Order: sequence, then structure tokens, then C-alpha cells
Amino acid sequence: SVSVRDTASRASLSVFVRKRPLLDEELRRGGFDVVSTCGEEETARASLVAHEPKVTVDLSRAMENHTYKFDGVYGESATNQQVFDSAVRPMVEHLFASRGHGTCFAYGQTGSGKTMTMEGLGSGEGDNSAGIYSLVADDLFRNVRGAGGGLTVRAGFFEIYRGKCFDLLNKKRSVQVMEDEHGAQHVVGLHQSTLASAEELLLLLSTSDRTTRATAQNTHSSRSHAVLQIEVVEPASESVRCKLSLVDLAGSEWAAKAQSDDRQNRLDGAEINKSLLCLKECIRALGSQSSHVPFRGSKLTQLLKDSFVGENSRTVMIATISPCSVCCEHSLNTLRYAERVK
Ligand code: ADP
Ligand code: MG
Repeated sequence: SVSVRDTASRASLSVFVRKRPLLDEELRRGGFDVVSTCGEEETARASLVAHEPKVTVDLSRAMENHTYKFDGVYGESATNQQVFDSAVRPMVEHLFASRGHGTCFAYGQTGSGKTMTMEGLGSGEGDNSAGIYSLVADDLFRNVRGAGGGLTVRAGFFEIYRGKCFDLLNKKRSVQVMEDEHGAQHVVGLHQSTLASAEELLLLLSTSDRTTRATAQNTHSSRSHAVLQIEVVEPASESVRCKLSLVDLAGSEWAAKAQSDDRQNRLDGAEINKSLLCLKECIRALGSQSSHVPFRGSKLTQLLKDSFVGENSRTVMIATISPCSVCCEHSLNTLRYAERVK
């Protein structure tokens, strides 16, 4: 018999929401928590019947509540490890076993916790020290050892800014996305490092040209999509056994800045708006078995084309939200977007 959990790991798209804690700075400015979550203690869809995971944004001044349901919802006390275990690990296991391609996105407003989720706090103590990047690498290495070794793990890290790709591990050199005759997408010119361990990945990322720690709304990292691609390769044939793209998306609030007065902001906003809309359309088109999927509409979706289609592909979206009253419009936008891609 098939358990609920098995069904969940077979769904090709899963959407999760993660609420971060209210920050001291938000408290000091009089902000308060307007987001309640239900289901963080449960694992993904296993809880569907007894306890449907949901998020509620309480707009009491407007006398209304908005509730959205997802495959899983994490509250402010959830750790990266918990998020990984229920949202991402099933995808990694599936891709390794089935030789598939998959993508995990962090989507949300700048400051909502995307980088915290993907990168973690880097080295050091604490429940959130390891992020999805290193937890995925750990799991892949475990699988490689379990398969008796003989497989190579390699990684590349680049960003997409204004529709162009730049190598974050090679002085931001410009690199090109190209499709081969089998429909596989390649980032030509990208520096790829062979890894011996998950720790090596963290070391490598610490040398990257992306400065993600700053949380100010205007930093470069909030305007670009960062893509970490990890591949497991059979060294003799060079064939890719499985490929994971882990994407820390540009801040979703930029989509609204396409109307901005500032030229730079307007151009960045327009590009980000286009790519996030196109991403939503592609995921929706795939879910509805539509014959036309607009992959060509943005560099991001073109790049991920070979990770979206095919029986063995998997997509996980983790939408991150701030609980703060002043962010409620952005949080609602994020929840609506995440609900629409389901
Ligand atoms: P984004 O990448 O979406 O712009 P960050 O990941 O940089 O956002 O997070 C913004 C701030 O919130 C950082 O100071 C980060 O440490 C804090 N933060 C985010 N998520 C959490 C969490 N789950 N627990 C504690 N602090 C968090
Ligand atoms: Mg960030």
C-alpha cells in the first residue's frame, strides 16, 4: 500500500512557506506579529488529513483575515534542518535514485529569510548554522557513499542579473546558457569545482563574489538571482547522474519597482518582475500539462528548462515571509504568488 508520505515525495511540485521571527529592529520600530502558522510540527503532506498546514495573515485594522494552505508551513521556531528534512530531502533522495533534475527556490521579499534558509549562518554554532546548500551537499555525499562511491560531486555558483549570467566563483566573469541537441542546458564557461565533502562546498562559497549578508533593501544581492548548481557525475562517461539547482531569488518586492522614478531601480525592477512572472507561468503551465511553456521568457526559466520537464524532475518552492505588521502587503503578495504556482 502507498502511504501519504510516498504520494508527497512523488508530487513533482511542492510549495512551502516559512515565517521568520520578528527581528529586534522591527520590534523597536513598533512592529508586531500579524502572521500565524499552523503545521510546522508536521511533515509535509503527511499531515494533510489531520492538520492542514496553513498560514493566516491577520489584518485586524481592515477587519479581515487571509488564510492560505500549502504542502507545509514552518513557523518562526523551525530550523533549517527541519525545513530541509521535510521539504528538500525527499527531492534529493528521489533525484539521486531516479537520475533526475530538480530545483529548490527561495522566494520572498528582501529581508524575509531567503539567504538564511539557503546559506544558513555559514560556519558556527546554532540551529540555523547549516543552510539548504550544505544540507543538500551532505545528503548527496551520503548517497554517493551508499552507492559504493565512484561518483563525483561538483558545484558551480553564479548569478543572473538583468538577464545575464555571471560566475560568482570566477571574478563575476560573464557566462552563457546554451542548450545542447538533447535539450540539456549548459552554463558555458562556468567554473565548476569538484568537491570532496560538504565542508568544501561551504569553503568554496565563502570565497564567492556575492555578498549576501547585508540585509539592506538596496544591496546588489537583492536584485539578482543566485544559483548554486550541484551535480553528481559518473567520472568515466562524464554523464550527469543528477543535478540540483538551488536558487536564492531576487527580492520579490522589486517586481513593484518597475514603475520607480529612479532609472536603475526601474530597469532592475522590470527585469525581476519579468523573470518572477515567467517563473510562475512556467510552473503553472507544467502543472496544467499545457503544451506551451514559456521557458524562453527569461534567462532564469531558460536555464532551468531541463530541470522542470521530464518524469523525474522535481521542484520545491520555499516562500519566506516576515511576520511584521509593516510587511503585511509584501507577505500577502508572496503568499498569493506561492498559492498560484501550486
Ligand atoms: P533575504 O535573503 O530574504 O533578504 P535574510 O536571509 O538575509 O533575508 O534574512 C534577513 C534577516 O532576518 C537576517 O538578519 C537574518 O539573520 C534574519 N532571519 C531570517 N530568517 C531567520 C530565522 N528563521 N530565524 C532567525 N533569524 C532569521
Ligand atoms: Mg538574501
